[in-house]
Amino acid sequence: MLNENAVADFKANLRGRLIEPGDKDYDEARKVYNAMIHKKPRLIARCADVADVIKAARTVTVGGGCTWGDVDHATHAFGMATPSGIISTTGVGGLTLGGGVGHLTRKCGLSVDNLLSADVVLANGTFVKASADENSDLFWALRGGGGNFGVVTAFTFKLHPIDMIYGGPMLYELSETAEVMKWYRELISAAPDDLNGFFAFLTVPPAPPFPEHLHMKKMCGIVWAYVGPQEKAEETFKPIRAFKKPALDFVGPLPQPALQSMFDALYPPGFQWYWRADFVNELSDDAIAQHIRFGEALPTMHSTMHMYPIDGAASRVGRTDTAWNYRDAKWAQVMVGVDPDPANKEKIVSWTKSYYDAVHPYSAGGAYVNFLMGDEGEERVKKTYGGNYDRLVEIKKKYDPDNFFRVNQNIKPSAK
Ligand SMILES: Cc1cc2nc3c(=O)[nH]c(=O)nc-3n(C[C@H](O)[C@H](O)[C@H](O)COP(=O)(O)OP(=O)(O)OC[C@H]3O[C@@H](n4cnc5c(N)ncnc54)[C@H](O)[C@@H]3O)c2cc1C
Repeated sequence: MLNENAVADFKANLRGRLIEPGDKDYDEARKVYNAMIHKKPRLIARCADVADVIKAARTVTVGGGCTWGDVDHATHAFGMATPSGIISTTGVGGLTLGGGVGHLTRKCGLSVDNLLSADVVLANGTFVKASADENSDLFWALRGGGGNFGVVTAFTFKLHPIDMIYGGPMLYELSETAEVMKWYRELISAAPDDLNGFFAFLTVPPAPPFPEHLHMKKMCGIVWAYVGPQEKAEETFKPIRAFKKPALDFVGPLPQPALQSMFDALYPPGFQWYWRADFVNELSDDAIAQHIRFGEALPTMHSTMHMYPIDGAASRVGRTDTAWNYRDAKWAQVMVGVDPDPANKEKIVSWTKSYYDAVHPYSAGGAYVNFLMGDEGEERVKKTYGGNYDRLVEIKKKYDPDNFFRVNQNIKPSAK
Protein backbone atom coordinates (compact mmCIF):
# COMPACT_ATOMS: atom_id res chain seq x y z
CA MET A 1 0.00 0.00 0.00
CA LEU A 2 3.01 2.33 0.43
CA ASN A 3 4.21 4.06 -2.68
CA GLU A 4 7.90 4.55 -3.32
CA ASN A 5 7.68 8.34 -3.09
CA ALA A 6 6.13 8.11 0.36
CA VAL A 7 8.91 5.76 1.49
CA ALA A 8 11.61 8.02 0.04
CA ASP A 9 10.03 11.04 1.72
CA PHE A 10 9.83 9.22 5.05
CA LYS A 11 13.45 8.08 4.78
CA ALA A 12 14.66 11.57 3.98
CA ASN A 13 12.94 12.98 7.04
CA LEU A 14 14.15 10.34 9.50
CA ARG A 15 17.33 10.99 11.44
CA GLY A 16 17.70 7.28 12.34
CA ARG A 17 17.97 4.41 9.85
CA LEU A 18 15.06 3.01 7.83
CA ILE A 19 15.32 -0.73 7.24
CA GLU A 20 13.37 -2.42 4.47
CA PRO A 21 12.87 -6.03 3.31
CA GLY A 22 15.97 -6.93 1.28
CA ASP A 23 18.36 -4.95 3.50
CA LYS A 24 21.10 -7.17 4.94
CA ASP A 25 20.09 -6.51 8.55
CA TYR A 26 16.34 -6.77 7.93
CA ASP A 27 15.98 -10.27 9.43
CA GLU A 28 17.96 -9.30 12.49
CA ALA A 29 16.06 -6.03 12.94
CA ARG A 30 12.64 -7.65 12.75
CA LYS A 31 13.36 -10.12 15.58
CA VAL A 32 11.59 -9.50 18.88
CA TYR A 33 12.28 -10.94 22.35
CA ASN A 34 9.73 -13.76 21.90
CA ALA A 35 11.05 -16.04 19.16
CA MET A 36 7.54 -17.33 18.46
CA ILE A 37 6.68 -14.01 16.88
CA HIS A 38 7.63 -13.58 13.22
CA LYS A 39 6.39 -10.25 11.92
CA LYS A 40 7.57 -8.94 8.58
CA PRO A 41 7.04 -5.18 8.70
CA ARG A 42 7.22 -3.24 5.45
CA LEU A 43 9.46 -0.66 7.15
CA ILE A 44 11.49 -0.66 10.37
CA ALA A 45 12.39 2.80 11.64
CA ARG A 46 15.38 2.98 14.00
CA CYS A 47 14.21 6.18 15.61
CA ALA A 48 17.09 8.40 16.73
CA ASP A 49 15.06 10.90 18.73
CA VAL A 50 11.55 11.98 19.73
CA ALA A 51 10.99 13.75 16.41
CA ASP A 52 11.65 10.45 14.65
CA VAL A 53 9.15 8.65 16.87
CA ILE A 54 6.49 11.23 16.02
CA LYS A 55 7.33 10.92 12.33
CA ALA A 56 7.13 7.08 12.44
CA ALA A 57 4.12 6.69 14.75
CA ARG A 58 1.45 7.76 12.31
CA THR A 59 -1.33 5.79 13.93
CA VAL A 60 -3.89 6.52 16.60
CA THR A 61 -5.64 4.00 18.82
CA VAL A 62 -9.08 5.12 19.91
CA GLY A 63 -11.37 3.71 22.60
CA GLY A 64 -14.68 2.35 21.26
CA GLY A 65 -16.73 5.03 23.02
CA CYS A 66 -14.80 8.10 21.86
CA THR A 67 -16.25 10.89 19.76
CA TRP A 68 -14.39 12.32 16.80
CA GLY A 69 -13.78 15.47 18.86
CA ASP A 70 -11.75 13.34 21.29
CA VAL A 71 -9.69 11.98 18.41
CA ASP A 72 -9.10 15.37 16.77
CA HIS A 73 -8.03 16.85 20.10
CA ALA A 74 -5.41 14.14 20.59
CA THR A 75 -4.06 13.96 17.03
CA HIS A 76 -4.06 17.67 16.19
CA ALA A 77 -1.43 18.23 18.87
CA PHE A 78 0.89 16.29 16.54
CA GLY A 79 -0.34 18.02 13.38
CA MET A 80 -2.14 14.84 12.32
CA ALA A 81 -5.68 13.78 11.44
CA THR A 82 -7.62 10.75 10.29
CA PRO A 83 -10.80 11.01 8.20
CA SER A 84 -14.07 11.26 10.10
CA GLY A 85 -17.33 13.11 9.34
CA ILE A 86 -18.34 16.75 9.52
CA ILE A 87 -19.48 17.01 13.15
CA SER A 88 -17.14 16.31 16.04
CA THR A 89 -19.78 15.01 18.46
CA THR A 90 -20.44 11.95 16.28
CA GLY A 91 -19.16 8.69 17.75
CA VAL A 92 -16.12 6.98 16.26
CA GLY A 93 -17.83 3.57 16.61
CA GLY A 94 -20.96 3.96 14.54
CA LEU A 95 -19.49 6.30 11.95
CA THR A 96 -16.48 4.10 11.31
CA LEU A 97 -18.26 0.75 11.20
CA GLY A 98 -20.68 2.10 8.59
CA GLY A 99 -17.91 3.61 6.43
CA GLY A 100 -17.22 7.19 7.47
CA VAL A 101 -17.72 10.05 5.00
CA GLY A 102 -16.50 13.58 5.64
CA HIS A 103 -14.21 16.50 4.85
CA LEU A 104 -11.17 14.28 4.20
CA THR A 105 -12.83 11.60 2.04
CA ARG A 106 -11.41 12.68 -1.31
CA LYS A 107 -7.88 13.03 0.04
CA CYS A 108 -7.63 10.13 2.51
CA GLY A 109 -10.57 7.84 1.74
CA LEU A 110 -13.36 6.71 4.06
CA SER A 111 -12.72 6.18 7.78
CA VAL A 112 -12.73 2.42 7.12
CA ASP A 113 -10.02 2.84 4.50
CA ASN A 114 -7.79 4.14 7.28
CA LEU A 115 -8.64 1.48 9.82
CA LEU A 116 -5.61 -0.71 10.56
CA SER A 117 -7.03 -2.92 13.29
CA ALA A 118 -9.85 -3.31 15.77
CA ASP A 119 -10.22 -4.97 19.17
CA VAL A 120 -13.56 -6.75 19.25
CA VAL A 121 -15.71 -8.51 21.85
CA LEU A 122 -17.80 -11.07 20.00
CA ALA A 123 -21.36 -12.17 20.75
CA ASN A 124 -20.08 -15.24 22.67
CA GLY A 125 -17.97 -13.03 24.93
CA THR A 126 -14.58 -13.81 23.43
CA PHE A 127 -12.12 -11.04 22.70
CA VAL A 128 -10.36 -10.98 19.33
CA LYS A 129 -8.21 -8.71 17.23
CA ALA A 130 -9.18 -7.99 13.65
CA SER A 131 -6.69 -6.73 11.09
CA ALA A 132 -5.32 -7.68 7.70
CA ASP A 133 -3.30 -10.42 9.45
CA GLU A 134 -5.67 -11.62 12.17
CA ASN A 135 -9.31 -12.60 11.62
CA SER A 136 -9.11 -10.90 8.27
CA ASP A 137 -12.69 -11.92 7.39
CA LEU A 138 -13.98 -10.06 10.44
CA PHE A 139 -11.75 -7.09 9.61
CA TRP A 140 -13.25 -7.01 6.12
CA ALA A 141 -16.81 -7.07 7.49
CA LEU A 142 -16.17 -4.38 10.12
CA ARG A 143 -15.19 -1.97 7.36
CA GLY A 144 -18.71 -1.01 6.35
CA GLY A 145 -20.82 -3.80 7.88
CA GLY A 146 -21.92 -1.66 10.85
CA GLY A 147 -22.43 -2.95 14.38
CA ASN A 148 -23.36 -6.44 13.20
CA PHE A 149 -20.27 -8.35 14.25
CA GLY A 150 -19.29 -7.40 17.80
CA VAL A 151 -18.48 -4.55 20.13
CA VAL A 152 -15.34 -2.76 19.05
CA THR A 153 -13.46 -1.68 22.16
CA ALA A 154 -10.57 -0.04 20.28
CA PHE A 155 -9.89 1.15 16.74
CA THR A 156 -6.41 1.83 15.34
CA PHE A 157 -6.32 4.28 12.43
CA LYS A 158 -3.69 5.53 10.05
CA LEU A 159 -2.90 9.24 10.51
CA HIS A 160 -2.20 11.88 7.88
CA PRO A 161 -0.15 15.05 8.23
CA ILE A 162 -3.21 17.33 8.09
CA ASP A 163 -2.99 20.26 10.44
CA MET A 164 -4.39 23.44 8.88
CA ILE A 165 -7.22 23.32 6.34
CA TYR A 166 -8.42 26.06 4.02
CA GLY A 167 -12.17 25.58 4.26
CA GLY A 168 -15.62 26.53 5.47
CA PRO A 169 -18.99 27.34 3.89
CA MET A 170 -19.62 29.42 0.79
CA LEU A 171 -23.32 30.26 0.41
CA TYR A 172 -25.36 31.34 -2.61
CA GLU A 173 -28.91 32.60 -3.15
CA LEU A 174 -31.46 29.82 -3.50
CA SER A 175 -32.48 31.32 -6.85
CA GLU A 176 -28.98 30.45 -8.10
CA THR A 177 -29.21 26.75 -7.18
CA ALA A 178 -29.43 25.38 -10.73
CA GLU A 179 -26.35 27.30 -11.81
CA VAL A 180 -24.43 26.40 -8.65
CA MET A 181 -25.25 22.69 -8.81
CA LYS A 182 -24.34 22.42 -12.50
CA TRP A 183 -21.04 24.20 -11.92
CA TYR A 184 -20.33 22.19 -8.77
CA ARG A 185 -20.90 18.78 -10.41
CA GLU A 186 -18.28 19.57 -13.07
CA LEU A 187 -15.83 21.26 -10.74
CA ILE A 188 -15.71 18.59 -8.06
CA SER A 189 -15.41 15.76 -10.57
CA ALA A 190 -12.30 17.38 -12.07
CA ALA A 191 -10.85 18.62 -8.78
CA PRO A 192 -7.65 17.22 -7.26
CA ASP A 193 -8.03 14.99 -4.20
CA ASP A 194 -6.78 17.88 -2.05
CA LEU A 195 -10.09 19.65 -2.57
CA ASN A 196 -13.28 18.38 -0.93
CA GLY A 197 -16.58 20.19 -1.04
CA PHE A 198 -20.05 18.97 -0.19
CA PHE A 199 -23.16 20.64 -1.54
CA ALA A 200 -25.89 21.64 0.94
CA PHE A 201 -29.28 23.26 1.27
CA LEU A 202 -29.67 25.06 4.57
CA THR A 203 -31.35 27.83 6.50
CA VAL A 204 -28.93 30.43 7.84
CA PRO A 205 -29.03 30.36 11.68
CA PRO A 206 -30.27 33.59 13.29
CA ALA A 207 -27.09 34.28 15.22
CA PRO A 208 -23.53 35.56 14.83
CA PRO A 209 -21.22 35.03 13.00
CA PHE A 210 -23.88 35.11 10.26
CA PRO A 211 -24.79 38.62 9.07
CA GLU A 212 -28.27 39.70 10.09
CA HIS A 213 -29.54 40.24 6.56
CA LEU A 214 -29.09 36.49 5.92
CA HIS A 215 -30.68 35.23 9.14
CA MET A 216 -33.31 32.51 8.55
CA LYS A 217 -32.80 32.73 4.82
CA LYS A 218 -32.92 29.46 2.86
CA MET A 219 -29.75 29.16 0.80
CA CYS A 220 -27.61 26.67 -1.04
CA GLY A 221 -23.90 26.32 -0.67
CA ILE A 222 -20.75 24.28 -0.59
CA VAL A 223 -18.70 23.47 2.47
CA TRP A 224 -15.11 23.35 1.28
CA ALA A 225 -12.06 21.66 2.75
CA TYR A 226 -8.74 22.12 0.94
CA VAL A 227 -5.93 20.07 2.50
CA GLY A 228 -3.18 20.69 -0.05
CA PRO A 229 -0.19 23.00 0.52
CA GLN A 230 -1.70 25.96 2.34
CA GLU A 231 0.38 28.45 0.36
CA LYS A 232 -1.51 27.26 -2.74
CA ALA A 233 -4.96 27.61 -1.19
CA GLU A 234 -5.78 31.14 -2.36
CA GLU A 235 -4.73 30.20 -5.86
CA THR A 236 -6.90 27.06 -5.78
CA PHE A 237 -9.91 29.11 -4.77
CA LYS A 238 -9.45 31.80 -7.44
CA PRO A 239 -11.62 29.99 -10.03
CA ILE A 240 -14.14 29.08 -7.34
CA ARG A 241 -14.50 32.71 -6.32
CA ALA A 242 -14.48 33.78 -9.95
CA PHE A 243 -17.49 31.58 -10.77
CA LYS A 244 -19.86 33.89 -8.94
CA LYS A 245 -19.66 36.11 -5.88
CA PRO A 246 -21.11 34.10 -2.98
CA ALA A 247 -23.60 35.79 -0.68
CA LEU A 248 -21.42 34.56 2.17
CA ASP A 249 -17.80 33.46 2.00
CA PHE A 250 -16.56 31.95 5.24
CA VAL A 251 -13.75 30.03 3.57
CA GLY A 252 -10.26 30.54 4.93
CA PRO A 253 -7.41 28.92 6.85
CA LEU A 254 -8.37 27.17 10.06
CA PRO A 255 -7.12 24.26 12.19
CA GLN A 256 -8.57 20.88 11.23
CA PRO A 257 -10.53 20.48 14.53
CA ALA A 258 -12.12 23.91 14.00
CA LEU A 259 -13.63 22.82 10.69
CA GLN A 260 -14.68 19.47 12.21
CA SER A 261 -16.57 21.16 15.02
CA MET A 262 -17.91 24.15 13.05
CA PHE A 263 -21.50 22.84 13.00
CA ASP A 264 -21.58 21.13 16.43
CA ALA A 265 -23.46 23.94 18.17
CA LEU A 266 -26.16 23.90 15.50
CA TYR A 267 -26.97 20.26 16.17
CA PRO A 268 -26.98 19.56 19.92
CA PRO A 269 -28.22 16.13 21.07
CA GLY A 270 -31.94 15.49 21.50
CA PHE A 271 -33.45 16.73 18.23
CA GLN A 272 -35.86 14.76 16.04
CA TRP A 273 -34.06 13.42 12.94
CA TYR A 274 -35.67 11.69 9.96
CA TRP A 275 -33.33 10.46 7.24
CA ARG A 276 -33.46 9.26 3.65
CA ALA A 277 -30.43 8.71 1.43
CA ASP A 278 -29.05 7.47 -1.86
CA PHE A 279 -25.78 6.91 -3.62
CA VAL A 280 -25.56 9.02 -6.77
CA ASN A 281 -23.49 8.46 -9.90
CA GLU A 282 -24.67 11.42 -11.95
CA LEU A 283 -26.28 14.70 -11.03
CA SER A 284 -28.52 15.25 -14.04
CA ASP A 285 -30.38 18.44 -14.92
CA ASP A 286 -33.66 16.65 -14.18
CA ALA A 287 -32.43 15.62 -10.74
CA ILE A 288 -31.33 19.21 -10.10
CA ALA A 289 -34.85 20.42 -10.92
CA GLN A 290 -36.21 18.13 -8.21
CA HIS A 291 -33.57 19.25 -5.71
CA ILE A 292 -34.59 22.86 -6.26
CA ARG A 293 -38.26 22.07 -5.49
CA PHE A 294 -37.37 20.56 -2.13
CA GLY A 295 -34.52 22.93 -1.27
CA GLU A 296 -37.04 25.75 -1.54
CA ALA A 297 -39.35 23.87 0.81
CA LEU A 298 -36.95 23.08 3.68
CA PRO A 299 -39.52 22.43 6.44
CA THR A 300 -37.55 23.64 9.49
CA MET A 301 -34.40 25.61 10.25
CA HIS A 302 -32.27 22.53 10.93
CA SER A 303 -33.48 20.42 8.00
CA THR A 304 -30.96 20.00 5.25
CA MET A 305 -29.73 18.06 2.24
CA HIS A 306 -26.06 17.19 1.80
CA MET A 307 -24.28 15.66 -1.17
CA TYR A 308 -20.93 14.30 -0.02
CA PRO A 309 -18.38 13.49 -2.71
CA ILE A 310 -17.08 9.93 -2.29
CA ASP A 311 -14.74 9.84 -5.28
CA GLY A 312 -11.00 10.58 -5.08
CA ALA A 313 -9.12 8.29 -2.69
CA ALA A 314 -12.34 6.53 -1.59
CA SER A 315 -13.04 5.45 -5.16
CA ARG A 316 -9.61 3.88 -5.62
CA VAL A 317 -10.29 1.15 -3.07
CA GLY A 318 -11.69 -1.99 -4.70
CA ARG A 319 -15.40 -2.77 -4.44
CA THR A 320 -14.67 -6.07 -2.66
CA ASP A 321 -11.68 -4.90 -0.60
CA THR A 322 -13.99 -3.86 2.24
CA ALA A 323 -17.70 -4.40 2.91
CA TRP A 324 -18.46 -0.88 1.54
CA ASN A 325 -19.78 -1.65 -1.91
CA TYR A 326 -20.47 1.58 -3.82
CA ARG A 327 -16.91 2.49 -4.72
CA ASP A 328 -17.88 3.87 -8.11
CA ALA A 329 -20.62 6.23 -6.87
CA LYS A 330 -19.74 9.92 -6.95
CA TRP A 331 -21.85 11.16 -4.05
CA ALA A 332 -23.53 9.96 -0.88
CA GLN A 333 -26.66 12.08 -0.77
CA VAL A 334 -28.78 12.54 2.34
CA MET A 335 -31.92 14.51 2.96
CA VAL A 336 -32.72 14.89 6.62
CA GLY A 337 -35.65 16.54 8.33
CA VAL A 338 -34.50 17.86 11.72
CA ASP A 339 -36.29 19.78 14.45
CA PRO A 340 -36.12 20.16 18.23
CA ASP A 341 -39.92 20.02 18.58
CA PRO A 342 -41.62 16.58 18.44
CA ALA A 343 -44.80 18.38 17.31
CA ASN A 344 -43.06 18.98 13.96
CA LYS A 345 -42.44 15.28 13.37
CA GLU A 346 -45.02 14.87 10.61
CA LYS A 347 -43.75 17.97 8.83
CA ILE A 348 -40.14 16.77 8.69
CA VAL A 349 -41.03 13.17 7.88
CA SER A 350 -43.30 14.09 5.01
CA TRP A 351 -40.76 16.53 3.45
CA THR A 352 -37.98 13.95 3.72
CA LYS A 353 -40.04 11.14 2.20
CA SER A 354 -41.38 13.26 -0.63
CA TYR A 355 -37.92 14.62 -1.41
CA TYR A 356 -36.50 11.12 -1.48
CA ASP A 357 -39.31 9.84 -3.72
CA ALA A 358 -38.59 12.66 -6.16
CA VAL A 359 -34.82 12.15 -6.45
CA HIS A 360 -34.46 8.41 -5.84
CA PRO A 361 -35.20 7.57 -9.51
CA TYR A 362 -31.99 9.44 -10.44
CA SER A 363 -29.87 7.54 -7.90
CA ALA A 364 -27.47 4.60 -8.11
CA GLY A 365 -29.68 2.29 -6.04
CA GLY A 366 -28.36 1.74 -2.52
CA ALA A 367 -27.52 4.25 0.19
CA TYR A 368 -24.77 4.89 2.71
CA VAL A 369 -25.77 2.59 5.56
CA ASN A 370 -25.25 5.27 8.23
CA PHE A 371 -27.84 7.46 6.54
CA LEU A 372 -30.55 4.76 6.48
CA MET A 373 -33.36 5.32 8.94
CA GLY A 374 -34.15 1.71 9.72
CA ASP A 375 -37.74 1.76 8.46
CA GLU A 376 -36.91 0.93 4.84
CA GLY A 377 -36.73 -2.85 5.10
CA GLU A 378 -34.20 -5.57 4.50
CA GLU A 379 -34.11 -5.14 0.72
CA ARG A 380 -32.67 -1.66 1.06
CA VAL A 381 -29.85 -2.96 3.27
CA LYS A 382 -29.15 -5.75 0.76
CA LYS A 383 -29.08 -3.26 -2.08
CA THR A 384 -26.60 -1.12 -0.17
CA TYR A 385 -24.14 -3.99 0.18
CA GLY A 386 -24.78 -5.30 -3.33
CA GLY A 387 -22.36 -8.08 -4.27
CA ASN A 388 -20.76 -7.95 -0.81
CA TYR A 389 -23.96 -8.96 0.97
CA ASP A 390 -23.57 -12.74 0.69
CA ARG A 391 -20.06 -12.60 2.10
CA LEU A 392 -21.32 -10.47 5.00
CA VAL A 393 -23.97 -13.12 5.73
CA GLU A 394 -21.29 -15.85 5.82
CA ILE A 395 -19.16 -13.81 8.23
CA LYS A 396 -22.21 -13.01 10.35
CA LYS A 397 -22.94 -16.76 10.59
CA LYS A 398 -19.40 -17.34 11.83
CA TYR A 399 -19.13 -14.51 14.37
CA ASP A 400 -22.74 -13.90 15.46
CA PRO A 401 -24.80 -16.97 14.47
CA ASP A 402 -27.68 -16.10 16.84
CA ASN A 403 -27.93 -12.53 15.60
CA PHE A 404 -27.23 -11.11 19.05
CA PHE A 405 -26.21 -7.80 17.43
CA ARG A 406 -29.43 -7.04 15.60
CA VAL A 407 -30.48 -3.51 16.62
CA ASN A 408 -28.78 -2.06 13.55
CA GLN A 409 -29.02 -2.19 9.76
CA ASN A 410 -29.23 -5.89 10.26
CA ILE A 411 -27.41 -8.54 8.29
CA LYS A 412 -29.21 -11.73 9.25
CA PRO A 413 -27.12 -14.89 9.63
CA SER A 414 -29.90 -16.81 7.91
CA ALA A 415 -30.39 -14.44 4.96
CA LYS A 416 -29.88 -15.77 1.44
C1 LIG B 1 -25.37 15.13 13.68
C2 LIG B 1 -24.92 13.98 12.82
C3 LIG B 1 -23.93 14.17 11.88
C4 LIG B 1 -23.47 13.11 11.11
N1 LIG B 1 -22.49 13.33 10.20
C5 LIG B 1 -21.96 12.29 9.55
C6 LIG B 1 -20.86 12.47 8.67
O1 LIG B 1 -20.38 13.57 8.46
N2 LIG B 1 -20.34 11.39 8.07
C7 LIG B 1 -20.82 10.14 8.28
O2 LIG B 1 -20.26 9.20 7.72
N3 LIG B 1 -21.89 9.93 9.06
C8 LIG B 1 -22.46 10.98 9.70
N4 LIG B 1 -23.55 10.79 10.51
C9 LIG B 1 -24.15 9.46 10.58
C10 LIG B 1 -23.41 8.65 11.62
O3 LIG B 1 -22.31 8.02 10.99
C11 LIG B 1 -24.34 7.59 12.20
O4 LIG B 1 -25.42 8.22 12.86
C12 LIG B 1 -23.59 6.69 13.17
O5 LIG B 1 -24.41 5.58 13.49
C13 LIG B 1 -23.23 7.42 14.44
O6 LIG B 1 -22.48 6.60 15.26
P1 LIG B 1 -22.39 6.86 16.85
O7 LIG B 1 -21.34 5.94 17.36
O8 LIG B 1 -22.29 8.29 17.09
O9 LIG B 1 -23.85 6.47 17.33
P2 LIG B 1 -24.38 5.31 18.27
O10 LIG B 1 -25.86 5.54 18.34
O11 LIG B 1 -23.60 5.25 19.53
O12 LIG B 1 -24.08 4.01 17.43
C14 LIG B 1 -24.84 3.66 16.30
C15 LIG B 1 -24.69 2.17 16.07
O13 LIG B 1 -23.35 1.92 15.65
C16 LIG B 1 -22.91 0.70 16.22
N5 LIG B 1 -21.78 1.00 17.12
C17 LIG B 1 -21.42 2.19 17.64
N6 LIG B 1 -20.28 2.08 18.35
C18 LIG B 1 -19.92 0.77 18.27
C19 LIG B 1 -18.82 0.02 18.76
N7 LIG B 1 -17.86 0.56 19.51
N8 LIG B 1 -18.79 -1.31 18.48
C20 LIG B 1 -19.74 -1.89 17.73
N9 LIG B 1 -20.80 -1.22 17.22
C21 LIG B 1 -20.88 0.09 17.49
C22 LIG B 1 -24.09 0.10 16.97
O14 LIG B 1 -24.79 -0.74 16.08
C23 LIG B 1 -24.92 1.30 17.31
O15 LIG B 1 -26.27 1.00 17.49
C24 LIG B 1 -24.03 11.83 11.28
C25 LIG B 1 -25.06 11.65 12.22
C26 LIG B 1 -25.50 12.72 12.97
C27 LIG B 1 -26.62 12.51 13.96
